[in-house]
Amino acid sequence: MNVFKQKEREFALGRLPTLKEKFPESKEILSFMEHVISFQKGVMEDLLDKDLGIDISSADSRIGKGKPALKLTGINWGPFLSYLWPLLDLLDQVGTGEVREGVSYLKSLGKEEILSNLNYFLENQMADDVSRFIFMAWLQPILYVIADGIEFDKEQWLRNFCPVCGFRPSVSFIMDAEEGEGARFLRCSLCLTDWFYIRTKCVNCGNSEDDKLDYFVDQSQDYIHIQTCKVCDHYIKIVDMRKEGLAVPDLEDIASVSLDLWAQEKGYVKFERNLLGF
Ligand SMILES: [Zn+2]
Ligand SMILES: [Zn+2]
Repeated sequence: MNVFKQKEREFALGRLPTLKEKFPESKEILSFMEHVISFQKGVMEDLLDKDLGIDISSADSRIGKGKPALKLTGINWGPFLSYLWPLLDLLDQVGTGEVREGVSYLKSLGKEEILSNLNYFLENQMADDVSRFIFMAWLQPILYVIADGIEFDKEQWLRNFCPVCGFRPSVSFIMDAEEGEGARFLRCSLCLTDWFYIRTKCVNCGNSEDDKLDYFVDQSQDYIHIQTCKVCDHYIKIVDMRKEGLAVPDLEDIASVSLDLWAQEKGYVKFERNLLGF
């Protein structure tokens, strides 16, 4: 696993105190995320030198056909249940009442039932809110490590779903990169893979007419924009890394939940919900 990626979740943990200051209204969810990310970091470290037994030999040809590299339902997740149990124990301690209820429901199921619920979720990207969160929090670090072994052309994919796992991005960001100054990238809500996407294009319907896209910003945190589309009424956030170099897009998205509430009050629908479901 490349050093930068390995360090990235460490940066994410280090970002949390700053975010708590910037977004005091989100302190509680950020403290909760601290537990989740610390746990995930431990899983990644544990997986680093292991052979995960995941066959990625068809990744190139799948990507060439416009399909995500991995077929998630084709992976045997059974061996990875060993990371689910400690996650459930953790969530039982630090989760909200609703999360703890979801935990005890999952604990009441047999392994096969859990795996079949998981496969249903992966196939349809649909589950009740708590199961969705638990499944994503569980698989995220595993897929993050797998994704590291998959190569694709970040500049050529250009689609609105992840080239690695097929899930949708919950946030986007702008940075100066090889792809261009002020290039926009999407970040996968599940495996956290980033890929290039046209900056002035709606991530939901593909509309790229300038006068049919709007941008909103909260003046107090003006490095986070909301891009809304007049054609389909969907929105996605854009984190401007040129203004806030230490930003961690998926965490900025979680911290700035007040922007989601604002956009949703105006009738806009988020293109994809983040790990916590908003
Ligand atoms: Zn992904
Ligand atoms: Zn649109």
